[in-house]
Amino acid sequence: MLILVINCGSSSAKYQLFDIKKNKSVAKGIVEKIGEKGAVCKDHYQAIGIIRDRLLRDRKKILKDINELKGIGHRVVHGGEEFNKAVFIDKKVLRSIESASELAPLHNPPSLAGIKACKRYFSGIPQVAVFDTAFHQTMPAHSYIYGIPFDFYKKYKIRRYGFHGTSHWFVAGEAARILKKPLRKLKIITVHLGNGCSMTAVLKGKSVDTSMGFTPLEGLIMGTRSGDIDPAIVTFLMEKNKLSAEKVAEILNKKSGLLGISGLSNDMRDIICGMKKGNKRAKLAFDIFVYKIKKYIGAYQAVMGGADAVVLTGGIGENVPVLKNRLSNELRSALGAKTKFMIVPTNEELLIARDTYGLIK
Ligand code: AMP
Repeated sequence: MLILVINCGSSSAKYQLFDIKKNKSVAKGIVEKIGEKGAVCKDHYQAIGIIRDRLLRDRKKILKDINELKGIGHRVVHGGEEFNKAVFIDKKVLRSIESASELAPLHNPPSLAGIKACKRYFSGIPQVAVFDTAFHQTMPAHSYIYGIPFDFYKKYKIRRYGFHGTSHWFVAGEAARILKKPLRKLKIITVHLGNGCSMTAVLKGKSVDTSMGFTPLEGLIMGTRSGDIDPAIVTFLMEKNKLSAEKVAEILNKKSGLLGISGLSNDMRDIICGMKKGNKRAKLAFDIFVYKIKKYIGAYQAVMGGADAVVLTGGIGENVPVLKNRLSNELRSALGAKTKFMIVPTNEELLIARDTYGLIK
């Protein structure tokens, strides 16, 4: 049974075809640089057309006719407060994703474009939306309400939403399987470290707190994002350097984090290479990166009254074993011997395919 997963970013459309009964990826690819100079297509609509043609023309002939597809699962970054699980996409759901675009102006519009294109190019195939925010909808109000006037929550829905939900949910489930215990009996801290970085306290299988907030800017130090800072820095910079709100947002999103501290790169591989060559600012960036993770582990351990496992995942979490060793050594006395440190590869696409199949079934 074939399920197609589509993940539309601002200038790319990734796809992966799953034989879901075998839990196996059978084809995958990406259409990149959408709308850029010299690109193969001008928008996401055309990109989905390219994906359909590629799948039908693949020499392995896995998909001979689009009607062999049983469903299409879309990654959608923001579901606002409305969605706590995957849903079939109908007109009402499309409107809700559209209205959540205000909260994720860079992410939701490409997903919407991808969904609309799939309606045309894969006509009649059921489509499902899987939201990055859905897993975190179990957070209690004391985790998601900010210490600002409550009216801003009521008027503009300013609150913590959290992201990377599919990844946190996937690796928490995998960790439970490895530990041979049901999720409902576990306290797990999941640490997703990729281009974006976030952590979640998963208590009895539910997200009770997470480090990203109203936007994916809050929390840990990331490749180019600042993570937590004193909000007064924003107004100070605006006044001192006569910067616009847009400019400050650009600094915090694109020029901060590992790149901003090291002055070298946003890529952890370059930071590690720089450290090995004795670059002091690369070492400082790495130390701050680790320190922030340690602080959040301590906080989430306190929130859940302990932790059975700390699970590292994402491009950095999966490929930098020294990070796991350092965290487990430095936190051993604080956490005790019971807490396991694990590396678990994430697979958001597989989970999206499973969620899609779960609804269709
Ligand atoms: P992701 O967003 O999960 O694909 O992660 C991307 C990030 O993972 C890159 O920016 C790198 O910093 C990091 N990364 C990927 N491979 C490695 C590696 N072998 N060693 C260290 N960092 C890596």
